[in-house]
Amino acid sequence: MNPNETLTLALSKGRIFDETLPLLRAAGIEVLEDPQTSRRLILPTNRPGVRVVLVRATDVPTYVEHGGADLGVCGKDTLIEHAAAWGGAHVGLLEPLDLGIARCRMSVAVPADFDYARAVRQGARLRVATKYVAIAREFFAAKGVHVDLIKLYGSMELAPLTGLADAIVDLVSTGNTLKANQLVEVERIMDISARLVVRPTALKAKGERIRPLLHALAVALAPASDGR
Ligand code: AMP
Repeated sequence: MNPNETLTLALSKGRIFDETLPLLRAAGIEVLEDPQTSRRLILPTNRPGVRVVLVRATDVPTYVEHGGADLGVCGKDTLIEHAAAWGGAHVGLLEPLDLGIARCRMSVAVPADFDYARAVRQGARLRVATKYVAIAREFFAAKGVHVDLIKLYGSMELAPLTGLADAIVDLVSTGNTLKANQLVEVERIMDISARLVVRPTALKAKGERIRPLLHALAVALAPASDGR
């Protein structure tokens, strides 16, 4: 397929994919294959020339920015970390819609027996393990708390349990993961939700196809903003 005629949407498997599907459906787009049962990474839709590519969540901004996809859906956390990874330099992405899906929060958590308030009050240097180093750095800098950031790629909740860190910065949804590991949430850094991102050059070149899709998605989202 000629990439100039194709509209490609980058999604990550799991919650983002599952929660984006109903919005796409409301916008008239049906994904014709189930990633649970298919090993294909490029999924056709009922709309000729519209396809979905499955990429890792942290790769969504890169795919959209560099032309592997025209649009994508990814968490605000991913977007902030992606921008910071490039030194806060201009990232060529537009963020026209907050899809309100994959909602969670970015929080600080510590072991139940760790006196976080006291450590912060006393100006102790906190060891903080996280995958989200830019968000954590910015948050603690704004509070004037000195931290040693320890970058991890998975299972952050293990870090305080093994003595690797005093605290973690991680996404929290139900709070069950923290609870299961005897950790308590001590600060909410920000609310997170998934955003639709678009490459400006794609919007320019394929605006006649992208704009109606943005409009249909915005309409699909409208009832949710009425407090549903
Ligand atoms: P929970 O136990 O429901 O609080 O979920 C927490 C775990 O799921 C943590 O390991 C988080 O990193 C992950 N998580 C929760 N919500 C999201 C989300 N919206 N996107 C990605 N990871 C998430």
